[in-house]
Formats: sequence, structure tokens, C-alpha cells
Amino acid sequence: MIRSRFSWKLTAVLLLPIFLSTAVVGGLAIRSIEEDSKEEVRRSLAAQAALLRNVAAPRLGQSHETALKQEVRSLGEEIGTRLTVIDAGGQVLADSQEEPSRMDNLASRPEILSARSHGSGTATRYSHRLGATLTDLALPIEENGRLLGYARASLPLSGVDQRVARLRTVVALGTVLALLAAGVLGLALARSFVKPVNAMTAVAEGMAHGDYNRRLPATRTDELGDLARALNRTAESSQSRMETIITDRNKLLSLLKGMVEGVVAVDREERVLQMNSAAGTILGALPETSVSKPIWEVTRVRQVCDTLSRTLKTGRDVKDELRLVTRSQDQVVEMLASPLLDGEGELAGAVVVLHDVSNLHRLQTVRRDFVANASHELKTPIAAIRALVETLIEDRSMPSSDRERFLDKIWNQSMRLSSLVTDLLTLSRLESSPTGPDLQPIDLRQPFRGAVQALLPTSEERGIAVHAEIPPGPVRVLGDAEALGQLTTNLLDNALKYTGRGGQVWARLKNTGNQVLIEVQDTGMGIAPQDQARVFERFYRVDKARSRELGGTGLGLSIVKHIAVIHQGQVFVESSPGIGSTFRASFPIAPQDPVHADTPL
Ligand code: ADP
Repeated sequence: MIRSRFSWKLTAVLLLPIFLSTAVVGGLAIRSIEEDSKEEVRRSLAAQAALLRNVAAPRLGQSHETALKQEVRSLGEEIGTRLTVIDAGGQVLADSQEEPSRMDNLASRPEILSARSHGSGTATRYSHRLGATLTDLALPIEENGRLLGYARASLPLSGVDQRVARLRTVVALGTVLALLAAGVLGLALARSFVKPVNAMTAVAEGMAHGDYNRRLPATRTDELGDLARALNRTAESSQSRMETIITDRNKLLSLLKGMVEGVVAVDREERVLQMNSAAGTILGALPETSVSKPIWEVTRVRQVCDTLSRTLKTGRDVKDELRLVTRSQDQVVEMLASPLLDGEGELAGAVVVLHDVSNLHRLQTVRRDFVANASHELKTPIAAIRALVETLIEDRSMPSSDRERFLDKIWNQSMRLSSLVTDLLTLSRLESSPTGPDLQPIDLRQPFRGAVQALLPTSEERGIAVHAEIPPGPVRVLGDAEALGQLTTNLLDNALKYTGRGGQVWARLKNTGNQVLIEVQDTGMGIAPQDQARVFERFYRVDKARSRELGGTGLGLSIVKHIAVIHQGQVFVESSPGIGSTFRASFPIAPQDPVHADTPL
């Protein structure tokens, strides 16, 4: 309160006019009263001097000096005024308070000079003897136009001075009291303003620092009360707006965080405003430490910086493709940078969305390769059949043995075509189901046994001994019986294809306790180490000619892998060229169903 400038200003504003008015009015009043008193003294002196003149005139020049002296003395004592009779030369003839012989010649006194020239003279002087200011008034005493002397009356002004001094004291006291009252009033008034204003300032400063919870008591009914209520409403609306902004911001941040696409926002100086973790991964930057730093400082990927710069420069969307060569894989990222505008539509920064389309690219490449390979694989038997049929049509006189051979070839090619189409359809069936196959708890022994039995005639035909090892108890898996039968068939079919006459093939179904294994081992030609990882690729064949000759499509093992994957399983190969190969497919065991646990499948 003491330090409040407003209090002091308000008090000063109240005090100043009071002080000025009392000083001016008091001063003028004192002055006027002083003047009036002096005038009164003068008038009284004039009357007394006139009386003295009348008394002294008949005695002047007639050697009645003693009588004159006595008369002047008694008159002076009677009226309480000092009376002096002076002759024309300035010599004192009689004085009511002093012995004339001891008095100086008064001819040069201003009141005497003035009386001589103007008919009346007044002068004020300080008397050391009386220690007071005196007013003298002299009148000339004349007889028939001849100057006989002067009658002078003198009165001290101490009465007037005392009155004026008293008046000054009263005015000063009044002024001090008025100033004190005004000061107290001003401070009290200022306090009633300053206190709520200080409270409002605290609330406003709190809002500036993000504290919107403070409220003001709005009990006053005056303008300050209105201001307090308005401030409270402002705080409330700011608080709710702030809450909305924070909620929206949090939503936006969690949205950004959860986005698969990378998002980076920068300001006009290319300083990072926001970066989500997906963008951090693509750009090799740490989102937490990147904020407020220039984008070119946090990432080495120049293309992103250039794209953002271009958007900031042109104020337009910029689309670009980013190719990143990392140690593990090549990444293709689509970039779309857009300008960020502020509330007034002015450019405030730019945001870039990074969409990793590597998988899409890879899939497109795989699909393109697959279509090219499939077309090529289909074209070969079709072209062969066409050529053979054309020859048969053109050469009607072909010997029947050749015709037989040609028809045999046509049959072989059509069988190859049929196998290809069957395998392609199988692959398509496996891939097309969006939810995956309908997996049921099954006993794997049934499809496994079925596949082995179906291929026994072929094995006999090719002179290969097949040994099936099937556990006595049920082998439970969550699976598609048909697909798992197909997997076994494909592995066994390969073992028979790539094992020479007299070879051996083992088809094993194992329950290792925590997983189920389908294992097909042969004593065939084996696979070179560099080819082992690739045999599961579509259309990959180590020896194309041999595979074709044996009716292979190059799709058998990719179908095996696909079936294993959709059963949450894996496939492995172990092989030594010239010794043989072992293919294994492992699957998780089906969780025990208490109702059907002992039911034979
Ligand atoms: P294919 O129809 O040609 O047999 P697969 O996808 O089944 O196609 O097999 C791919 C390639 O893997 C085969 O061409 C063959 O070279 C090799 N291969 C597969 N199984 C065996 C095996 N048991 N022994 C040796 N090579 C094999």
C-alpha cells in the first residue's frame, strides 16, 4: 500500500487543491483583514490628529507651552495614543509620552514632509524603544493660511500584527487539519481501489503464466466489481479454451505417435516443431532431442530438408520420392510436404509426411516377377503343344509310331500345364483368403498318412523305398487338413523326383513335446549350399531342365512354405549334394481341448 504509486498520486491530487485553496484563500483573507485593520488604525489616527490639532491650534505661538504639554499628555493618556505637537520647524512642542527637549527635530520625517506638501502624512516605522512597528499620522496646523506646526498621532501596529498572527495560526491549523483529513481520506480511497486492482493484476499475471484457476471476489457493485466479473469470465473461457487446446494437442500428439507414416513439422526457420517416432526411424533422428533444432542438423537425409525448403520457398505442396539404401534393405519413401499456415493465412512453416512404401514396392516387384514367370512357364508348354498339334495337322501322312510319340509329348506338356495351373490355383487359394484358412484342431496323422499312401505307387514305379514313421498316438495341431496333406505331398513328391532309382525316402511325423514336425529325408542328389536358401522362392529351380523333365513347376516348395507360415510354422532344409536332403516343417501343438482330448480322430 505504502509503495502504491496510485495511492500517492490520488492523495497528492486530493491534497494539492486543498493546500492551494487554503493557502490562497487564507492568504488573501489575512491580507485583507490586515489592510482593513491598518486602515482602521489610520482612520482612528486621523481623527485623533484632528482632535489634537483642534486642541493645540489656539495655544501655538502663545507661550502656553506648559499648559499645552499637560493637555497633550492627559489627552494622550485618555485616548491611549501617543500625541505629539510639533512647530513649523520640526521642533517638538509637546508629547504625550516623552519630554520634548529630549526628542530630535522631526522636520525631515516622511509623515511631516508629506503633511506639509499634501495636507496629511502617514508613515510607518520601527521603534527600537518600543520594540514595535508604529504608524504616525501628521496633520498641519494652520491659521489663516500660515503654517503654525503639526499635530501628530502615533499608534503601534502590534495589535494588528497580533490579530494577523492569530489569524495565520488559525489558517495554518485549518490547512494542516484539512490536509490530514484529505490525506487519510485519499489513502483510504486509494486502498479501496488499489487492493482489488492488485488482486486483478495477480489474476491477470497468473493467466499470463498459464494459471487459469484463480478467481476474484466479485461482491462489489461498482465498475471495479464489473471489471472483476469480466476478468473471472475471461479466466473461465480462457481455461476452457486452454483445456480444449490441450486435449486437441494431446489427441494430435497421440495420433501422430500412433501413425505409421512419419510426420515432421518445421517452422519458417526450418526448426523442428514436431517429429513422430516413425519419422525418427526413417530419418535416423531422435524425436525427443530434435525439437527446436534446424532439420538439417538432426538428419543426414538431405532430400527431406530440400523438400521442406522448397515448400517454404514456394508455399506449395511438394511431392517427391526418397530412396534410402540401408545395410539391411533398400527403403522407398513417398514424401508429401505441405505449407503450414497460421490463423491469418500466413506461411508459418511446413509439414512433411513420410510414407514408407518399401513393402508395397517389394510386393509390386514380386507380383510383377511372378506374373512374368508364370506367363513364361505357361507359355512354354502351350507353345510346345501348339507346335506339336500343328505338325500333326500339317503332316497327315505321319507314320503312326511318330504320331504316337507326338501325342505322348502333347500329353506330357498338357500334364505340365495342368500341374502349373493346379499349383497356381493352390497358391492363389492360400493367398486370397483374407482371414487365413479355417484352422481346426486335427490329428495330423490322417492327412500325413493319406499323402504317403497316395505316392506309394509312384515310389514303386521309380524304385525308391519309402519308410513312413508315424507316432501311435494322435498328433494334434490347429490346421487345415487338406493344406497340410498338400505340404506332405509336395515334400514327398520332391524327394521321389530328386532321388535316383534304388534310393530311400523317410517320411516322419514327430511330436517333440512342444512342437510337431513333418520330416522328409531322401538319399537323392542334394542341394548345393548356395541354392538351399532360395529353393523356397517361387519358380526357383536348381536344375530347370531336370525339374521340367520330372514335371516340376518350381512352385512346390513355395507352396510348402506358404502352408507352414499360415499354420504359424517354419520350414528348414538340410542338404549335402550327392548324399541327400532333409526337409522339415514345424508347427505348434494345438492347445489341449479338455472335451475332445481323448476322442480318436
Ligand atoms: P519343382 O517343381 O521344380 O520341384 P520345387 O519348388 O518343389 O519345384 O523345388 C524347387 C527346387 O528345389 C527344385 O527344382 C529342385 O532343384 C530343388 N529340390 C527340391 N526338393 C529337392 C530334393 N528333395 N532334393 C534335391 N533338390 C530338391
